[in-house]
Amino acid sequence: MEKNIRVRFAPSPTGHLHIGGARTALFNYLFAKKYSGTFVLRIEDTDELRSSQESVKWIFDSMAWLGLNWDEGAMPDGTQKGNFGPYVQSVRESQGIYKQYADKLVKEGKAYYCYCTAQELDEMRKKAALEKRPPKYEGRCRNLTAEEKEKFEKEGRKPVIRFRMPDDGTTSWNDLIHKELSFENKLLYDFIMVKASGYPTYNFACVIDDYLMKISHVIRGDDHISNTPLQINLYKALGWEIPQFAHLSMILGPDGSRLSKRHGATSVQEYKKEGFLPETIKNYLALLGWSTQDSQQIFEKGELEEKFSLEGCQKNPATFDPVKLKWMNGEYLRKLDKKTLSDLVLPYLKEAGFDLSYPKVPLEELIYLEYEKYKVLSEAPSLLSFFFKENPDMDAEAVQSVFSKPSAYKVLSGIAEVYSSLPNFEEKSIEEATRKFAKDNSLKNGEVFHPVRVAVSGKAQGPTLFKMIEYLGKDCAVNRIKAAVSLCSVNK
Ligand code: GLU
Repeated sequence: MEKNIRVRFAPSPTGHLHIGGARTALFNYLFAKKYSGTFVLRIEDTDELRSSQESVKWIFDSMAWLGLNWDEGAMPDGTQKGNFGPYVQSVRESQGIYKQYADKLVKEGKAYYCYCTAQELDEMRKKAALEKRPPKYEGRCRNLTAEEKEKFEKEGRKPVIRFRMPDDGTTSWNDLIHKELSFENKLLYDFIMVKASGYPTYNFACVIDDYLMKISHVIRGDDHISNTPLQINLYKALGWEIPQFAHLSMILGPDGSRLSKRHGATSVQEYKKEGFLPETIKNYLALLGWSTQDSQQIFEKGELEEKFSLEGCQKNPATFDPVKLKWMNGEYLRKLDKKTLSDLVLPYLKEAGFDLSYPKVPLEELIYLEYEKYKVLSEAPSLLSFFFKENPDMDAEAVQSVFSKPSAYKVLSGIAEVYSSLPNFEEKSIEEATRKFAKDNSLKNGEVFHPVRVAVSGKAQGPTLFKMIEYLGKDCAVNRIKAAVSLCSVNK
């Protein structure tokens, strides 16, 4: 890459960081890493009604959790890092940064005051619809005389400032993902740069800031493609160099419609809570609209930073597949060692209200028993619950299908005896004794193992049987088996 790479993530703090926003942040981050560039975080809080400090915090938290550390920008402690600040648009506004450029453009006739009221604009839109014209602002205030202006002022109208869009010609750019994109200027409109409140709009503030912050590449979602020709015209009017643009593909839900709340969790925070690892989310997001030539799925630490490229980004929509995401999380969970897994699972067990002092073996061991099964950490309580109370919850279906077998009564009462008299209650000896019991009674192993499993855990499936029994301990296992005897319905 020829010049200093500077990219930015510029979220509007109007809620949680969503999958789409996180993907944009990640791609900017990866691009900066790949080319030893600078990743800037800018807070675009010019929507006075919807922006909140709480949302800024959520964004900071989610980015930190994903490990998307920025080199420059607004920082969580209220300070800023870098020489191009402030990095919060409301602060920039208060310093008059936008106003000076708006005034300059007005002075040069490239922007103008517009006094149209909301009601008048609404009427214009209705009229345009009736006449089958596009609902764009037709420029009533483009050439107001001094008298007309004065009259409006006297009426107490508060003007906005609009950009004077060229009437003819086209605006095109070579998008780094979508290739050549072109818009006829007559289809563009005189967008508002400064609102009646004096606050800049997104399209205006974004251009001023991208320029002043020396952003070389604007990488953002393709929902912004329609804003880009407006912004390019603004760069031209200001005589500024235009950055490169890369618009990332849209993200669809599994049903083919744009990803939204309807498809389930959409915020990074929700995924965190459900027990996804940040590594998984990062890996999965990277594949939403980008791939390597050999379609690599799982990336080791640092690999994405090395392999990412805009050339590998597709313009076609990407589909968000929650099943694949869970599969991937399982893959990542299985890479963890006992201690790390246990530290991550423990808060879920605590939240489930389990008596963590009940088991006689270290929690780490119990938690690791099921390590092959976890897809998300929040599944741990339901997989492990029977370790934490005296009597397990009995799964009605398992009880019905297993305890109704003719041999169940004999098996459970016999095994309770066998286990009671086992001197050494360890996996190996429990297994040997259980197999011997089956053999001595001419039963198949399954005829013994199944009822024992249901008796001690309440479930038809679970961790490896004899280890689980060892971990429950002799008294607990025998008591549970004895209690289950009464649930066996036939052949008493
Ligand atoms: N604040 C805008 C948004 O959150 C940023 C768009 C851009 O990257 O230019 O959508």
